[in-house]
This record gives sequence, structure tokens and C-alpha cells, in this order.
Amino acid sequence: MISLEQLVRPNIWNLAPYSSARDEYSGKEAHVFLDANENPYNTTVNRYPDPLQRQLKAVLSKIKGVPAENIFLGNGSDEAIDLPYRIFCEPGRDNVVSIAPTYGMYKVCADINNIECKQVLLDDKFQLHADQLLAACDEHTKIVWLCSPNNPTGNSLDRDEMLKVIEGFGGIVVVDEAYIDFAQQLSLRQELPTHPNLIILQTMSKAWGSAAIRLGMAFASRDIIDIYNKVKYPYNVNLLTQQKAMEMLSDPFEIDKWVKMLLQERSRLMMAFAELPCCEQIFKTDANFFLARMTDAQRIYDYLVEHGIIVRNRSRIQLCDNCLRITIGTRSENNELLSALRQY
Ligand SMILES: *Cc1c(COP(=O)(O)O)cnc(C)c1O
Repeated sequence: MISLEQLVRPNIWNLAPYSSARDEYSGKEAHVFLDANENPYNTTVNRYPDPLQRQLKAVLSKIKGVPAENIFLGNGSDEAIDLPYRIFCEPGRDNVVSIAPTYGMYKVCADINNIECKQVLLDDKFQLHADQLLAACDEHTKIVWLCSPNNPTGNSLDRDEMLKVIEGFGGIVVVDEAYIDFAQQLSLRQELPTHPNLIILQTMSKAWGSAAIRLGMAFASRDIIDIYNKVKYPYNVNLLTQQKAMEMLSDPFEIDKWVKMLLQERSRLMMAFAELPCCEQIFKTDANFFLARMTDAQRIYDYLVEHGIIVRNRSRIQLCDNCLRITIGTRSENNELLSALRQY
């Protein structure tokens, strides 16, 4: 790996971060707080929240087996995706490399930050070939974006190929594991101690059923997390989100039940799709959705909309011709989808 000092933009490396009242004093002993220009009335939302979300990280640390100092929490994964651009990439000069097809936010954030995003097509089984990805990197490539299980294809990327990328690239490799709780494949979290250029993203939005609270996580070396914390908005995760997340994390067995049910429904739905005359191919998935190649994706999409059922039309994406992406819903939602398609 190239040294962090060489990878990070000089203005960020030299940044003196904003120091909030809660950064300067965060002890528990005091009882009169006249330091942050807060209103003493309207408890319990009158005080600024913990800028480093220490309680929440302590709980997450136990569940994920990652020390709290290796965890960043943000306003959804969106924040954890945007920050590495601002930390590592010099606008108009540096570039990033991502797989394709993949999640749209990597490219959108690149465009917003005026960073070129070079996309390397997966093979026809949606698999990654490390050598092709590495060949697309040049001396201005700061970040490589991987997503496993991948969106919109649903499959996990080959673990050894991902490790080849992580070990063969001198810059930062981000692996987005938003769907890892649904996957057979293990998280790359255990690779963190031996791979200082690795950033792993996870989220409360999918398996944890909490898309509305906006809580994304990044796991990485302490040095990278420290820079994330320096650049983020001081109070980027609000108190209500921190509290709701603690509540959700206090009952991980409930989440296990949801995941089990969704995986059962997924296999039922996929088997039913295989029998549909309007479905030509279903793709192997490790997530709470699957990709299906249809006879006429656009017409079927419109037909479903007429019936009040919305799926994701991915048919204009490379390698996804005529494909719809189907999220697994409740049993009755899935049945509604099936009976509509049987009558198509
Ligand atoms: C849904 C999704 C996320 C989650 O984003 P949040 O901002 O945390 O809601 C992240 N990455 C991928 C690939 C996704 O599909």
C-alpha cells in the first residue's frame, strides 16, 4: 500500500478539524452545561448528540467483532461513500475504478466531486476478474469500488478475486457489504487487521430494517477512521437515530428471524419465477432481491405499475438487458406480484 500521507489530499492531511463543545468536554461528572449555547429547556432533544456516537459504537463493536476505533458511523452509507472522494481524490486530477454494473452512488458521488469514474465490466456471470480491474488503474487511481453481494446483480463477488484486488492495488479498496447479512459468503471484516487499505461498508437499511433512520457504517484502519472523523460534519448522526439504532441492536434475534423468512420467500419466489412464461432467466443471488431476465422488461414493468406493484427496471443497464430487479417482500406482497405476472 502507498502511504496514507501520499494517498490523502494535502489539504485534508493538514486539516485542523472543527472542535465542538462536546469534543472539548465529554466527561460524565459535570452537571451544569453552559458551553454549547444550547437551550436548557425541551429535554431530551435540547443537547447536541455525541459527535463520535460512543455508546452505539460500543454495542456495534461487540456485534461486529471490530474495535470501536475502527468504526465510522454516518448519515447512511451515502456519507461513507462520499467521504473517501473528499478525503483522497483531487478534483479534476484523480480517478476511481469501479465494477459495472453496480450501485449507482459511486458514480454519482464521483461526478459531484468532479472525479473520473472508470468502470470495468464484470463477466457474463457477473463475476470479477482482478487482473482486468487492476489493469484499469493508473497512477492517479485513488480508490477501487467493489460491492459484494453486488447490486443490481445480487451475486457475491469471488472472495479470492476481491483479495487479489485488495492486495494488488496500492490505493484504497472499498467493499460495500450492504447485503452481507443475507449472504452465504462471509464478510471481509476479518481481513481488516492485515489489509490497511481496506474500507468495508455496511448499513442498517437492509437486513436491519431501518432505512428511515439513515445509519451507515464504515470499518477500516484506525488511521483511515480518524480522517473520516476529521472531515465529517461534527454531529452527522442525530440523537434519534443513535437511540433507535441502539434499540434495534438490542434484539439481533429479531433480525435473524427476518433474514430467515426473507431467504425462504426468496427461494419460493425464484422457483415460481422460473415457471413464468414471461421470465427467461433468473440469476443466482446472495441478497434480499434477485435479477430476472424477462421477455419484455419495459412492458412488464408498466403492466405491474398499472396493478400498483413497483419493481426496479434495470433493463437499460449494461449486461442487464430486459432485466427487472425484484425485492423480496412479505409473503402476501410476493403473492400479489406472482398472481399479477401469471395473468400477464
Ligand atoms: C441499499 C444500498 C446501500 C444502503 O445505502 P444507505 O445510504 O445506507 O441506505 C448501500 N450500498 C448498496 C450497494 C445498496 O444497494
